[in-house]
Amino acid sequence: MDEGGRKTLNLLHVPMKDQNSAHHKHHENPNNTQFKKDKVLADAPERSRYSFRRGGVWILFFLLLSLVPLGIGLVSPTPDYRNFWMEFGVTAGFVALGLFAAQFIFSGRLAWVAPSFGMDNIVHFHREIGIIAFLFLLVHPVTLLLHNPAFISYFDPGVNLMRAIALVFVNFAILGIVATSLWRIKFGLSYEKWRLLHGFLALSIVFIGVVHSVQVAHYLDPLWKKILLGATMGACMYQVLHTRLVRPWLNRKHPYRVVELKEEHDDCYSLTIAPVKGPKMKFIPGQFAWITICDTPLSLQQHPFSFSSSAQADTISFTAKVSGDFTATWKDLKPGRKVFLEGPFGSFTPEPDSHVFMVVGGIGVTPAMSILRTMRDDKDPRQAILLYASSDWDDVTFKEELVEISQQLNLRVIHILEEPPKNPTEGIETEEGRIDQEMLAKYLPENHDQFMFFICGPSGLMDVTEVALHQLGVDWRRIYSERFKIV
Ligand SMILES: Cc1cc2nc3c(=O)[nH]c(=O)nc-3n(C[C@H](O)[C@H](O)[C@H](O)COP(=O)(O)OP(=O)(O)OC[C@H]3O[C@@H](n4cnc5c(N)ncnc54)[C@H](O)[C@@H]3O)c2cc1C
Repeated sequence: MDEGGRKTLNLLHVPMKDQNSAHHKHHENPNNTQFKKDKVLADAPERSRYSFRRGGVWILFFLLLSLVPLGIGLVSPTPDYRNFWMEFGVTAGFVALGLFAAQFIFSGRLAWVAPSFGMDNIVHFHREIGIIAFLFLLVHPVTLLLHNPAFISYFDPGVNLMRAIALVFVNFAILGIVATSLWRIKFGLSYEKWRLLHGFLALSIVFIGVVHSVQVAHYLDPLWKKILLGATMGACMYQVLHTRLVRPWLNRKHPYRVVELKEEHDDCYSLTIAPVKGPKMKFIPGQFAWITICDTPLSLQQHPFSFSSSAQADTISFTAKVSGDFTATWKDLKPGRKVFLEGPFGSFTPEPDSHVFMVVGGIGVTPAMSILRTMRDDKDPRQAILLYASSDWDDVTFKEELVEISQQLNLRVIHILEEPPKNPTEGIETEEGRIDQEMLAKYLPENHDQFMFFICGPSGLMDVTEVALHQLGVDWRRIYSERFKIV
């Protein structure tokens, strides 16, 4: 153990199942008995790590928050019990309202929630809870209407025009929010329009839900109950406005400027920026930030990108593969262009007391580059293994720098190519085909419990790797994934 009580590892013996590979290079390390104190992490934001305790606290908070409307309704004074189906239908409505409101907190953009789970898990959670909230909301009118068809009058404009419009709108809004989230691309909706629509529909659903509950008033009869419901749901809704408007607005005082733009292999561009004044954003390698390239931070075009530069560098770099309207503009960016950053986010970050095993594909190499560049700058003695999948050798972004870095670090890079190179280069390890369990087993170190595993790339590669590593005996708490495709 070091002075900080942290476990230290003996780097002399890091056995690999495939130590006899013809191309395998072993790099002597000057300091191989104990990890250096991590310089990067010393002045970086608090480290992120999944933990049952922190995760449990947040899940409990989520559950309590989603039960707030029901709880307010059930606090004394309560009206007389009617019958099971009436109360069941009303309960479903209250739970749906609470779940929708809690989604605003667990949407992945709050720096204090995301690190407990990782962005990837938060996005999955947000999506699945959205479907559950949708089902609860559906149960609400269906149960009440089946129990008492007279409730159809709630949708009758002749009885109450505003109420009918609002409730019909909510039904379409909920269908719209679920359908566009599941099938955005099939609908031909750009990400920016989807994001705007998603926020607007979500806010409208909760707002109308609160107004509807207050108007019905059966369980919210005393005024304080109405105020309490409005205040708690309003606080949740404010989180969306804070993320979309207030935070970017506050960010306007911290602009960056483009310093350099570099073309990379495979239609990729590296953008290097520096703060106009003050220090650059501190980040842990493996994290990402939201980028806006515009004169104002209040733009719809805000996109997440992993840092690709070393955390030790004076400037910050991102590398994008051209995939649509935003990334297509990168090649024309000129030095001096204003850029805004929001972040850092993410827990795709190695701990200082673990070796690093990374499985990446295509542009998923960017967080790995940041991790390796930082390790290089930090003269980090840990062992790193990079399995890097690409379609062919010409498409391998950063291949030259990876050769350089592997001579400076205790790093082994294995290129997994669908098409093998015509003229293999001496000293470069390649495998033909795609990443699968057999290939992972070949490169999995025997002491894999001393490694952290990072997966980033196309969905297929990530799905296969997550399952295969688990089946090969890797503890799931050591497996971290970063998915670039959110919806
Ligand atoms: C955590 C994270 C880190 C990422 N790091 C990188 C990186 O280092 N390099 C890289 O090339 N790409 C990265 N991406 C993906 C990158 O954000 C998208 O490729 C980019 O936003 C595409 O925008 P576009 O308008 O050029 O393409 P589009 O054709 O509009 O979008 C292509 C796909 O990118 C996603 N996307 C588009 N806009 C956004 C947005 N505003 N927010 C979130 N997702 C969006 C959607 O899934 C969409 O289908 C990352 C994504 C995430 C979530």
